[in-house]
Amino acid sequence: MFTRSSGSNSHSEIKNHSATVPAAGEAAGPISVVTGGAGFLGSHLSDRLLAEGHRVIGMDNFLTGNAKNIGHLAGNPNYRFVRHDVSNYIFLSDDVDYIFHLASPASPVDYLEHPIPTMKVGALGTHNALGLAKAKGAKFLLASTSETYGDPLVHPQKEDYWGNVNPIGPRGVYDEAKRFAEALTMAYHRFHGVDTKIVRIFNTYGPRMRLRDGRVVPAFISQALSNKALTVFGDGSQTRSFCYVSDLVDGIYKLALSDFHEPVNIGNPREMTIKEFGEHILRITGSSSKLEYHDLPVDDPKVRQPDIGRAKSVLNWEPKVDFEDGIRHTIEFFKSCTDTVQGEARIRHPKQSA
Ligand code: NAD
Ligand code: UDP
Repeated sequence: MFTRSSGSNSHSEIKNHSATVPAAGEAAGPISVVTGGAGFLGSHLSDRLLAEGHRVIGMDNFLTGNAKNIGHLAGNPNYRFVRHDVSNYIFLSDDVDYIFHLASPASPVDYLEHPIPTMKVGALGTHNALGLAKAKGAKFLLASTSETYGDPLVHPQKEDYWGNVNPIGPRGVYDEAKRFAEALTMAYHRFHGVDTKIVRIFNTYGPRMRLRDGRVVPAFISQALSNKALTVFGDGSQTRSFCYVSDLVDGIYKLALSDFHEPVNIGNPREMTIKEFGEHILRITGSSSKLEYHDLPVDDPKVRQPDIGRAKSVLNWEPKVDFEDGIRHTIEFFKSCTDTVQGEARIRHPKQSA
C-alpha cells in the first residue's frame, strides 16, 4: 500500500527507496493513479510521473491496452499495476494525491467495436474515478478530446466553442461519453469542490501505439513499411494536426499542477490534410506504396486544429517536437515491432458507418 509521507512532498527528493515504507525523515513523492495506464498515453504519462518522483498506481482492464507498454516498469518499487475495469466501483486502500483518468478506447475503430464499454467508461468510469478523487481528497484530471467539438464549424477550435456533434451517429458513443464526462467533472468541481482539470487532447502519436489500432498514424506507417497501399479515407482532404506524445504528456503534467479548472486544448497546431500526411509517410519511409482511396466514414470531422492560446497563457506550454523528428522516431519504433508489421488496415465495417 502507498501511504502519504509525513515529510515534505518535494518531487525531487524521492530516490531509490521502497515507496511503501519511506525511511524515517525521508520524503516520498505524491501518489498518482493512472486509469488506462497500460494504454499508449497512460504508459507514457506513468513514465513521466515516475521521473517526476511520483509513486504510480496503473489501472487498466486491457480492453485496448497492452501489458508490453508497462513491462519496463515491472519491479519498480514506485509502480504498481491493478487490473480493473474502472466502470465498476474502484476500491483502493492507498492514499491518493492525483487521479489521471485516461481509461477509454480512443481509436475510432476501437470505439466502433466497443460502443457500450466506451459509453460506460466515459460515464460510469468517470463517475467512479471522480468518486475516488472525492473520497481521497485527490486532484483529478480528465483526458477529454478534440472530439467534443465533433465535425467543427469553427476553425481552429477554441475551448469556448461548444461543438457540432451528432449524438446518434457511430462516433456519438465516444463524443457524447466524453462530453458527459466533462459535464460530470465540472459538476464534481462545482458541487463537491473537487480540484479537477480537463485536457482536450488532439491527435497524438508516438511509440507504443498499437500497430493495428486503426488510427491513421499506425495504419499508414505499417502499410508503408510493408509496401501495401495506404488506405486514404474519402479524398484525403480532411485535416488533422498531429502532436508528439512527449509534448502531450508535458501539457498534461503542467495542467495537473495548475489551478485551472476549465478545459484546455493540448495539441500541435501544425495542420495537414490526410493526403499530405500519407505523402510525408511515403517520403520518409522511402516506400513504393501508393495511396488508395476508400469511402469516408460517417461523421469523420473535415477539419481539426487546436487553438492553443489558452495552454500558452495558462500553462506556458507549447509543443516542441518537430513533425519530421516525431514521425521518424515513431517509424523507428514500428520497425522494431517486426513481428506485428502486417500492413493491413482495420477499416470500419460499412454497417458500423451506416
Ligand atoms: P489506448 O487505447 O492506447 O489507451 C486507453 C487505455 O484505457 C487502454 O489501455 C484500455 O485498455 C484502457 N481502458 C479502456 N476501458 C477501460 C476500463 N473500463 N477500465 C480500465 N481501463 C480501460 O488510447 P490512448 O490513445 O492512450 O488514449 C488514452 C486517453 O486519451 C483516452 O481517454 C482517449 O479518449 C484520450 N485521447 C487520446 C487521443 C490520442 O490521440 N491518443 C486523442 C484524444 C483523446
Ligand atoms: N484515416 C485514413 N485512413 C486510415 C485511417 C484513418 O484516411 O487508414 C483518416 C480518417 O478518416 C480521419 C483521419 O485519418 O479523417 C484521422 O483518423 P484517426 O482514426 O487517426 O483519428 P480521428 O482523428 O478520426 O479520431
